[in-house]
Amino acid sequence: MFNKRIKIKQLLAQEPDNQEVTVMGWVRSFRNNQFIALNDGSTNSNLQVVAELGKFNDTLLKRLTISASLKITGAVIPSLGKGQKLELKAATIEILGDSDAEKYPLQPKKHSMEFLREIAHLRFRTNTFGAVFRVRHSLAYAVHKFFNDKGFVYLHTPIITASDAEGAGEMFRVTTLPAHNPPLTENGAIDYKEDFFGRATNLTVSGQLEGELGATALGEIYTFGPTFRAENSNTPRHLAEFWMIEPEMAFCDLEDNMNLAEEFIKYIIRYAMEHNREDLEFLAQRLADEEKQLPLDKRSELGLLEKLDFVLNNNFERITYTQAVDILLQSPAYKKKKFQYEVKWGIDMQSEHERYLVEKHFKKPVIVTDYPLEIKAFYMRRNDDGKTVAAMDILAPGIGEIVGGSQREERLNLLLQRMEAMHVPAEELWWYLDTRRFGTVPHAGFGLGFERMVQFVTGMSNIRDAIAFPRTPGSAEF
Ligand code: ATP
Ligand code: MN
Repeated sequence: MFNKRIKIKQLLAQEPDNQEVTVMGWVRSFRNNQFIALNDGSTNSNLQVVAELGKFNDTLLKRLTISASLKITGAVIPSLGKGQKLELKAATIEILGDSDAEKYPLQPKKHSMEFLREIAHLRFRTNTFGAVFRVRHSLAYAVHKFFNDKGFVYLHTPIITASDAEGAGEMFRVTTLPAHNPPLTENGAIDYKEDFFGRATNLTVSGQLEGELGATALGEIYTFGPTFRAENSNTPRHLAEFWMIEPEMAFCDLEDNMNLAEEFIKYIIRYAMEHNREDLEFLAQRLADEEKQLPLDKRSELGLLEKLDFVLNNNFERITYTQAVDILLQSPAYKKKKFQYEVKWGIDMQSEHERYLVEKHFKKPVIVTDYPLEIKAFYMRRNDDGKTVAAMDILAPGIGEIVGGSQREERLNLLLQRMEAMHVPAEELWWYLDTRRFGTVPHAGFGLGFERMVQFVTGMSNIRDAIAFPRTPGSAEF
């Protein structure tokens, strides 16, 4: 019986034809004892339902409070009101669930993002978060569509891993050992041999190493799953649990990798632009209103939709790390000592440097390549200069790093050298090294942080507003 309902999105796309339909949803507002604004989550727009005066009894009308859930049957008629071509003339109104307006925390006024995070279980019911999560969904769907259409295999890499090769120090431990009096070894350390897996295990920080195993047989794979970082960075761009997309391609070098990443980013943005126009227009307006409160020099030059169009219609700038450092050293910001952190060849660029490059200098996404070997992971392919590796980071305006990737070191001897120099235990990664032992091939891949992408497309300034239930230091409610 419930599947007889029509979704409001579909209804609003029709012409008023006097046909009878059934809708269900939540009350957004009830005006003049007559007009119900009903929302069912299928679209940002509410359906106007008219409860003709005198037709419904007072007891029922009193229960039409904000967020009460209703089942309404009625005829679709042309609307006389402004802003909508049709409305529903209610014949029957059934209350599915009452909502106590006195206690309901969301009022029809503007709430701060911070407050809404405290009621993340209800914030889906706001226009803003309805739009954010519909856009997020479209982006996720577009990710799968993009790779599927190219013949990539979706690989599910493990969430529990035993290799701490990559994320030393910033991993969440997974254990069933008792927190009090765990079994100890002779020298007093926790005895993980007694643990569930017979060894120490963690939540994964990346699916890449396993992704490489897949790519070096299946050709092209991608992962799209949760990753975890126990880094204590309370920034608007870091979560302790976030979703990452990691394609990995055999027979692929750094340039192929950059081309794919750029095509991929543009594809998923375009997909959202084409399928979520109404939500993006709403979010653009929201952002414009929010920015009106900022001083002039802090406001974006482009609106959200213009920014996305601009990204679609322009090539990403491509520069080497060495060029990037030169630009920073020549910059007025550097000369006026505006950077807090040091600038010289060899530094790990800080967010202020990345933002200068994308927001002030190039004013568009920038791909920085060929970073110093010392600041990058052991698996990145060494360049012929012996000082740099075939790495690429994509930096986006307002976000900073959105993609980190590289061509991988496929030469066993050079890989072993790097592992030794960086104290990465080769014995533990015997399975990873086997790909270099048996038919090694040039290959490359990257990781895109999904929430940073959602931030970029929706214009939400804090990453906590790009995921349904954010996990951050000190916070794991819901
Ligand atoms: P950052 O320097 O911003 O911390 P990173 O160098 O640690 O990033 P990578 O290890 O290269 O990032 O991870 C790949 C991508 O995952 C990043 O480009 C970013 O989009 C995303 N990412 C990394 N850490 C986080 C995090 N804590 N929360 C959300 N997204 C993240
Ligand atoms: Mn990081």
